Amino acid sequence: MVESFGDFRRDKYCGEVSLEDVGKEISLCGWVHRVRNHGGVIFIDLRDREGVVQVVVEEKTNPEVYEKADRVRPEWVIGVRGEVRRRPEGTENPKLRTGYVEVRAKEIRVFNTSEPPPFPVDEETHVSEEVKLRYRYIDLRRESMKENLIFRHRFYQVVRRFFDEEGFIEIETPFLTKSTPEGARDFIVPSRLHPGKFYALPQSPQLFKQILMIAGFDRYFQIVKCFRDEDLRADRQPEFTQIDFEMSFVREEDVMDVVERLVVRLFRELLGVELSTPFDRVSYDEAVSKYGTDKPDRRFSLELVDLTDVFKETEFKIFRTAVESGGKVKAINFKGSNLSRKEIDELTLFVQGIGAKGLAWIKLENGKVSSPITKFLKRGELEAVLDRMRAQAGDVVLFSAGSEEEVHRILGSLRTHIAEKYNIVDRSKWDVLWVVDFPLMEWDEEEGRFVSLHHPFTAPREEDEEKIREALKVDSLEEKKRILRSVRARAYDLVINGEEVGGGSIRIHRKDLQEMIFELLNISEEEAKEKFGFLLEALRFGAPPHGGFAFGLDRMVALMRGLDSIRDVIAFPKTQKGICMLTMAPDKVTREQLKEVHIKVAE
Ligand code: ASP
Repeated sequence: MVESFGDFRRDKYCGEVSLEDVGKEISLCGWVHRVRNHGGVIFIDLRDREGVVQVVVEEKTNPEVYEKADRVRPEWVIGVRGEVRRRPEGTENPKLRTGYVEVRAKEIRVFNTSEPPPFPVDEETHVSEEVKLRYRYIDLRRESMKENLIFRHRFYQVVRRFFDEEGFIEIETPFLTKSTPEGARDFIVPSRLHPGKFYALPQSPQLFKQILMIAGFDRYFQIVKCFRDEDLRADRQPEFTQIDFEMSFVREEDVMDVVERLVVRLFRELLGVELSTPFDRVSYDEAVSKYGTDKPDRRFSLELVDLTDVFKETEFKIFRTAVESGGKVKAINFKGSNLSRKEIDELTLFVQGIGAKGLAWIKLENGKVSSPITKFLKRGELEAVLDRMRAQAGDVVLFSAGSEEEVHRILGSLRTHIAEKYNIVDRSKWDVLWVVDFPLMEWDEEEGRFVSLHHPFTAPREEDEEKIREALKVDSLEEKKRILRSVRARAYDLVINGEEVGGGSIRIHRKDLQEMIFELLNISEEEAKEKFGFLLEALRFGAPPHGGFAFGLDRMVALMRGLDSIRDVIAFPKTQKGICMLTMAPDKVTREQLKEVHIKVAE
């Protein structure tokens, strides 16, 4: 049944056959997409990377080929030789690139058969993620998946061309290395030659790219895999790709300018979209206080409004407690929504699911106020709320009270939940913005220490350096917190449609400053020496002022393709639980392998 490929010669891709080929005899190879036997005539849709073409076999003119065509099944791999003809009038398919032609088969060669695929190669059938990933080679035969990966390929090419033209040098950095702190857990690799020692897979090339600047390369870039062993909540992958770059003798503006020009070029060349520059800049404080998050999506309003002062003397206990303990009362106005009780209950369940106790609300209907909390509010308070929220008939005002952080978290999430649920996102827009003026550090309650918002190599604003010295001198923790709260980082994040697609900063290039930062982060001198000794040492030998940036490539590509999941733009992604369904990694290894790397697995 199966024939040799032998002397078969492919002339072009199935998806490329066009009216220009009419009258020619051509040879094609591909997978059988569909077969239809109309009794006396068989139609085979033949598919390859570039698309599908219709092959026609007539019993009358070609009984032997007809017989063979009758046996082929979906996903068999065949070769077809035949003449290209214009399709009879009325049978054209303008939806297909090849929809005006068909190939009259003179020869069919079966190169391989296929078992019936676990799911059809189409866009309609719903298939579970696990099955799709297990049979990824079938899934990748689907047109949409192919297009995603080809788009990704074109994305790489634009990036490479851009950086090359801009004088950046592509340099690879090691995967078997030492921990690079980006705030996640490391994947570690045991060393066979050095019992008890481990490599860490890089969370990013951060330290190497800084060292390349010290080495004088001036402009570096790399499209690079990064590894972070995080709990895979939401849409994360343990290994993902960054477009990483670094530059010497630059300020924030210079790095941001490179990013803007690259993003504009990607959108222009790949989507035909003209983004306007410079991208908006929003300070961290403004983003958080208006949108409850440092990655705001401004394609819908629902902005957070501060009402704390309105409730300074309120008798409504929940609000009062929040205000008295230094917290906030804030609200969003879901305009014209006319939410029903049932809908409000659903939103209440949502906020409870993310840690709120409940959801206070006020609904305005034709001059009538309905709300479970109005009975606790003074008349002036209610009026002030309605006024400040610009509430009109049909509006529903939703509150949150508590610590500032809590309120922002809850309302920020509620805001996006509502936008998605009620489909009020303006999808015709690209919302591209910079978030700037981040605090350098924040107090981490759980860890009981200050942590960097970006990473410990991010430089503080020059005018804040004195405060760092001051913070180091004071003993009281409260005083330290107070001082550090006003220290800003020279960092910038790029946010598109509410997703952080990249971030970077100007780095510390002086050893004394880097040591002070480590000290504030409670990284002891020994620990710093052990972990980052090589960087501290390099900083002693002529480190230039430098800064850089890294994009999350998977996220960018998914966003530009309008996809929710980065798994759809990665050829072989892992499941939410970090499993590669195709190979079933991670897996056990033999006792010998373990012994070689000096490891015993605890039962
Ligand atoms: N290394 C940083 C990251 O992975 C990016 C940068 O600061 O350049 O987020």
